[in-house]
Amino acid sequence: MKIIKSTSVLIENLDQLENISLIPTMGNLHEGHLSLIKEAKKLSENIVFTIFINPIQFNSKHDLENYPRTLQQDINLLKEIGVTILFIPSVNDIFPVKPNLSYKMPIISNELCGKTRIDHFKGVITVIDRLFKLIQPSYAIFGKKDYQQLYLIKRFVFDSKLPIKIIEAPTIRNIDKLALSSRNNLLKTKDINLAVELYKKLNICAESVLNGVKIHDAELIAKKELVKEGWEIDYLEVRSQENLKKPSYNDSKLVVLGAGFLAKVRLIDNIEFCIPTTI
Ligand code: AMP
Repeated sequence: MKIIKSTSVLIENLDQLENISLIPTMGNLHEGHLSLIKEAKKLSENIVFTIFINPIQFNSKHDLENYPRTLQQDINLLKEIGVTILFIPSVNDIFPVKPNLSYKMPIISNELCGKTRIDHFKGVITVIDRLFKLIQPSYAIFGKKDYQQLYLIKRFVFDSKLPIKIIEAPTIRNIDKLALSSRNNLLKTKDINLAVELYKKLNICAESVLNGVKIHDAELIAKKELVKEGWEIDYLEVRSQENLKKPSYNDSKLVVLGAGFLAKVRLIDNIEFCIPTTI
């Protein structure tokens, strides 16, 4: 594994590689991240793995400063599992000048996570655009855990007609079904058991809809339960898998997405489900 820290060295090394799979991350690696490497290995021998804590996708300085950083541990894990290049750029390397995204973000980027995290997804797409231009991968692998992010990256690739195949990887969970996340490491012990309630309530919401409960009512019940248990809810909504809009009468492929805080730590999760007929 080559560890590269500057764009100029990266470009030299990319010259010899074809058919690249790109895996962008912010580090503090866990089994969820490593599962993306397993997906990449099915597609290509040449894997470029990036660790970059992207400042322009954070809405608060506190959140950026507190994001878990475990670089040496991450390097050891990656050496063990094996990637071709680990790229760890600095902010100056990625954004030598103030970034300016020409792509017009879809309206849906201002809903769900984007409603309270203003310009978060613009920050995400800006860094992805930079990495895509720099690395020109054939494949890029992203987790469904960040469902809205994945949707917006797919839209960006489609709208920009980029020759990159986006690979969607399933969410990896712990034994209790809590979605693995770097932010879980910020939870206090007493909140770790509570964290899995988000998944449980999303599941109950999906099951209720499947059993004929009106979507709005199912969302409300799940939110109330979470608040009772100590969650501060950002949103909990059923949306169409196809476009992330509120479901219309003929949408059968749905996803319930939720985000909330436990002692200021923001967690997200989602569950896809299908209803057999119209709502
Ligand atoms: P992050 O480092 O949080 O920016 O995540 C980097 C990539 O790993 C993104 O594509 C995430 O969707 C993906 N990812 C994070 N957590 C998980 C998980 N539990 N299961 C699968 N993929 C994940």
